[in-house]
Amino acid sequence: MEYTEIREKVIQYSLQLQKAGLIRGTSGNISLRSKDGKVIAITPTGIPYDLLTPDDIPLVDDAGIVVDGRKKPSSELPMHLEILRFRKDLASVIHTHSLFCTVFAVMNRDLPAVTIPQILCGISSVKVVPFEFPGTQKLGQAILSVLGERGRAALLQNHGVVAAAPSLEYAYTIAEYLEEAAQVAYYAYAAGALNPIAQEAVDKMTEFVASGKNL
Ligand SMILES: [Zn+2]
Repeated sequence: MEYTEIREKVIQYSLQLQKAGLIRGTSGNISLRSKDGKVIAITPTGIPYDLLTPDDIPLVDDAGIVVDGRKKPSSELPMHLEILRFRKDLASVIHTHSLFCTVFAVMNRDLPAVTIPQILCGISSVKVVPFEFPGTQKLGQAILSVLGERGRAALLQNHGVVAAAPSLEYAYTIAEYLEEAAQVAYYAYAAGALNPIAQEAVDKMTEFVASGKNL
């Protein structure tokens, strides 16, 4: 079996997302590009994550053609492909319907910079991508237009959230801290005082993170 390591990683992080309560049932999907750039491993459609074995995980090429794997790729494959094809700096995409991120997506409201971990993982405010049908290339294109050349996260209107990064570990960290930020923002909003971190402070912390220094 080829590319065992990335296939195992996709299963490991699917289970971790489930354990953290970021995905439920068989919803959500993960993709990870191989280091040689030849294939993308992606979660299969409709199979409970705890039943997956590495050879279940489909490997697809750049055009989305399955080159190995026993199961059918996630229905969100076109979205993952679109992002990974055009953003060569990214190797992994995580899509979930995590509760509080989805609340913001339903409110159609950008998630402001509210928590320190959110900033430290390189994310400030997160924009909402206008609604497109799930499972379409159009959804991927709409996400790309919001991410631009450097963005790593987006909310999908009335749908969920996308986190993308140069590694699966990093994408997971973004997904986890964004959900925390959305939860904090929601409660602050509900309590009547949603005060985002000042832009100047966000810029300064972002600069520190980019330079590799500790705060
Ligand atoms: Zn979805």
